[in-house]
Amino acid sequence: MLSQQYQDNIDTLLKKIEEAEAIVVGGVAGMSKAIGYSFYHTDENFLKHFGKFADNYSIKNLFEGFYYRFSTREERWAYLATEMKLIHDAEAGRPYLDLLQLLQDKNYFIVTTNQDTQFSKTFPEVKVSPIQGDLRYFQCGSRCHDQIYFNKDQVETMYANIDGTRIPTELIPVCSKCGQEMEPWIQFSGCLLHYNKS
Ligand SMILES: [Zn+2]
Repeated sequence: MLSQQYQDNIDTLLKKIEEAEAIVVGGVAGMSKAIGYSFYHTDENFLKHFGKFADNYSIKNLFEGFYYRFSTREERWAYLATEMKLIHDAEAGRPYLDLLQLLQDKNYFIVTTNQDTQFSKTFPEVKVSPIQGDLRYFQCGSRCHDQIYFNKDQVETMYANIDGTRIPTELIPVCSKCGQEMEPWIQFSGCLLHYNKS
């Protein structure tokens, strides 16, 4: 049961959406939390996909795993491939579909710090600016050029070849121009590049 104040706030927001000539949405983590995703807690979903990493490294959640200092690159990329596959495979959640319904006939634009790509999956990509990046893309780890690369096929191959908690060394993605290791195209070490899709 919604409180009266909560319902009043919803009504106010709906009225403003109806009246607005243009709308800018600032989308943050709460949108995805409302689907049931949690990047910060151990839950059934985390253990289902990352059980081996929880057992071997005591990693408790997605966020912690992302920043965990694996002792080998092969282990780190096994973890990243598991996370990226989860992101690729996840369907658009209900809060996003509901928002799309509210906005679709309006003049709108979305800016989001979310890296789980739910906005980009739900809305036309030209309407979304993922200012902290998007895990479905790789960039050169040494930033030798600005191109970013859609990584679904590579992620599928890496994921399919995980042995325990490692991938084969030859599957670690490398830059085709300079040979350095690639990185996920997200802002976690101050290396977000310009948006320049391949
Ligand atoms: Zn490079």
